[in-house]
Amino acid sequence: MNAPTVLQPGLLLVLSAPSGAGKTTLAHRLLKETPDAVFSISVTTRRPRGKEREGVDYRFVDVATFQQKIERGEFVEWAEVHGHFYGSPQSAVDEARARRGSAIFDIDVQGGQAIKRKHPDAVTIFVLPPSMEELERRLRDRQTDSDETIRRRMLAARSEMERGIASYDYIVVNDDFERAYSELRAVVVAEHCRRGRVDVSKLGLGVGG
Ligand code: 5GP
Repeated sequence: MNAPTVLQPGLLLVLSAPSGAGKTTLAHRLLKETPDAVFSISVTTRRPRGKEREGVDYRFVDVATFQQKIERGEFVEWAEVHGHFYGSPQSAVDEARARRGSAIFDIDVQGGQAIKRKHPDAVTIFVLPPSMEELERRLRDRQTDSDETIRRRMLAARSEMERGIASYDYIVVNDDFERAYSELRAVVVAEHCRRGRVDVSKLGLGVGG
């Protein structure tokens, strides 16, 4: 039998998907309905888009500031995506551990895999669009990206999906938002009930919790 993964306090939830699959909307709903959860606000060198707000959607910094943060060890993982840098703050992990609560990471597959290597008890969930046609339609509906950007994102999406399907713990297909959300919620509820995450100490049994 494989040795079970050692569970540390807190639940690190990694949500990945190609952009346009609807993962950010799912993540925000999950955040609203999971009282112990906080959203890991990534640091990025890309510019704000549309209604994005500093310190809410991302922390927007210049490349020099990002480099400093790497050197100071402020990221649990960082990566270059579509020509910009993105990093997840180590503080999101530390705070979730300290609070024994959940941290939600809305990041790409390379970031999710890096977190899983460092924290094998992290739970990785990949959100898929119902089809490639639907994904392209959703990207075009945003009307913020040029044709060239959309072509690049579609190519990146294909490889992201292949890597996510091959390595993530759970897959949720976002064809219908309410159904996809209920699946995501079911995964989170089940993970909260995982042996080792439930506090059984009050029972005074000879096993931990
Ligand atoms: P966008 O620029 O569309 O907001 O994000 C582009 C991609 O970068 C998305 O797949 C998003 O999940 C990913 N991303 C956002 N923050 C991070 C992060 O902190 N680390 C990594 N590895 N990817 C991130």
